[in-house]
Amino acid sequence: MDRRNFIKSGSVLGGAIVMPPSLALADALLAPAEEPWFNRSMRWAQLAFVETDPKHYDPDFWLDYFKRVHADGVLLSAGGVVAFYPTDVPLHHRSDWLGSSDPVGYMVKGCRRMNMSVVLRTDPHATRQDMYDAHPDYISVTADGRKRRHWANPALWVTCAYGPYNFEFMTAVHKEIMERYTPDGIFSNRWSGHGICYCEHCVQNFRAAYGLDLPRSAEKLDPVYIKWQEWRTSRLKELWFLWDAEIRKKRAVARFIPNGFPDKLLTGKYADFFFADQQARTGVIPPWSNAMGAKELRAGLGMKSLVNIFSVGVEEEWRWKDSVQNDAEIRVWVAEGVANGMRLALSSSAPSFTTGDGCRR
Ligand SMILES: [Zn+2]
Repeated sequence: MDRRNFIKSGSVLGGAIVMPPSLALADALLAPAEEPWFNRSMRWAQLAFVETDPKHYDPDFWLDYFKRVHADGVLLSAGGVVAFYPTDVPLHHRSDWLGSSDPVGYMVKGCRRMNMSVVLRTDPHATRQDMYDAHPDYISVTADGRKRRHWANPALWVTCAYGPYNFEFMTAVHKEIMERYTPDGIFSNRWSGHGICYCEHCVQNFRAAYGLDLPRSAEKLDPVYIKWQEWRTSRLKELWFLWDAEIRKKRAVARFIPNGFPDKLLTGKYADFFFADQQARTGVIPPWSNAMGAKELRAGLGMKSLVNIFSVGVEEEWRWKDSVQNDAEIRVWVAEGVANGMRLALSSSAPSFTTGDGCRR
């Protein structure tokens, strides 16, 4: 008789009669605690779509690729600046190449069949002219009072991260994604703003918090700028908690995972696990900077799961030039991450551009 049956059938211990506990209680006492999904998944893959991908990429190639590399967790682009599913949230821009397809739904189903953890990815940092026309207050404003055009794509506008665009519009997007696909989590890329925003909401909210006008520049020793950094951190924490709470209403074990948070100690305190998006180096940054990033996060996270979204390349004017990346450099970069306790998430952007074995890492 094994230990489980021994207890279930009742027994004599130390001369005393022990009544048989209920089966449910015995199971609860003896069943190994189930690992949460984010501790189970050891090898991740990130597939970041660009707008034209729904028409041109081969989803089955990627599902097969995940199988071949034994990935058991996946990050997939879903919404934000572009929706890769047939969204019904007003002004949530569907990819012009979507047609009647649902790339998110197809990929989620395929990944679930392989028992993978699924995290859906949003990118809230930019929007289109129709959003500008309907909600001009959603757009970020520069120090000289102009609405902020996107630095890389002049058809886009940069959104304010600290106001109703994120708190209301993106909350609606996240709720819809949870309703449609019930992923294990939502991960937001470029969600935390791009410097000081001078929109009407930021002016009012900063004044309400500190009785001050916004700092005129990002001068690190300026006491008003220091206050602004405090305000920004608390605003983003509020946003993190709001999205996390909405996500958990649909799936209690699901989590919101921010791509970066301004305070690493708070990151360690509040995150159950974290993605370290470390794919880029500039100038003469050495490979051990991947390890340094891991150590900095570990200082707050302790031994919680930390996943390294990797790829590496010099990030200058021309970005995402994966085809000229060097294998040896990627190996060193990854080894530095693994040696510091990070799990791996290979990252691939623009899946329609696959060539050869299709791996853009
Ligand atoms: Zn603003």
